[in-house]
Amino acid sequence: MLADYHIHTELCQHAEGKASAFRARAMDLGMPELCFTDHVPNPDGYDPVNRMRLDQFPLYRTMVADLTRASQPVVLFGVEADYYDGCERFLQDWLPRQEFDLVLGSVHYIDNWGFDNPDERHVWDSVDVTKTWATYFDLIGKLADSRLADSRLADVVGHLDLPKKFGYRPSDRDLREMAQPALDRVAEAGMAIEINSSGLRRPVHEIYPSALLLSLAKERDIPICFGSDAHRPEEVGWQFDASLALARSAGYTHAVQYRRRQPLPYALPTL
Ligand code: ZN
Ligand code: FE
Ligand code: FE
Ligand code: ZN
Repeated sequence: MLADYHIHTELCQHAEGKASAFRARAMDLGMPELCFTDHVPNPDGYDPVNRMRLDQFPLYRTMVADLTRASQPVVLFGVEADYYDGCERFLQDWLPRQEFDLVLGSVHYIDNWGFDNPDERHVWDSVDVTKTWATYFDLIGKLADSRLADSRLADVVGHLDLPKKFGYRPSDRDLREMAQPALDRVAEAGMAIEINSSGLRRPVHEIYPSALLLSLAKERDIPICFGSDAHRPEEVGWQFDASLALARSAGYTHAVQYRRRQPLPYALPTL
């Protein structure tokens, strides 16, 4: 069983369940380890309805730390940090002081548009889809280039092709052209990408990233890890058999686990 490195908790205001319930589900599945990656607090006012407040962060830390005593599954402490222009203003002092095992870096907004928010889906009908994706990949490149103190902002790019969520996509040719420079920057930063099975629960019915993007990542030797993006305990490890099959078909033989933000390769199970 693969480790699940993308798990939210009720603290983000749009998930259900305390950390203990997610861990119990992972234990039932025989999962070796899981990492909590709830949405980072952004006291600058960014998207306040989808995250814990800064004064709730100690509660998050304690809720996860309380689960680390038992040996199986191993419980890791992480966060999903949004990348947006200016996010470093808060993160540069705050994030390096936390003792995270893993920082996922994700892009959920283009300007003030939450492009993956079902309530804002209609905006897709009035934008140039290809240009929107190009802007998105520019932001992924900036995420990869971003440094806080001496280290990279994030270790892993979350749901690399999130804009496909509702089925709006560029041509494969345009996708390649815009994704390759971004993936070059991801590789340069030493970041990994996650194989995020939550796309199978969305209108697109497809894992993030697509087989095409994963093959471009493999060409650059970009490491992978696995995430369900669980917002409810029953979503832990969601369709990880499909995620493993996708990784294997792209030619991956290893994934990475993290401790204190350091990657460690491990061999993938056979199908
Ligand atoms: Zn969420
Ligand atoms: Fe996300
Ligand atoms: Fe998430
Ligand atoms: Zn996510």
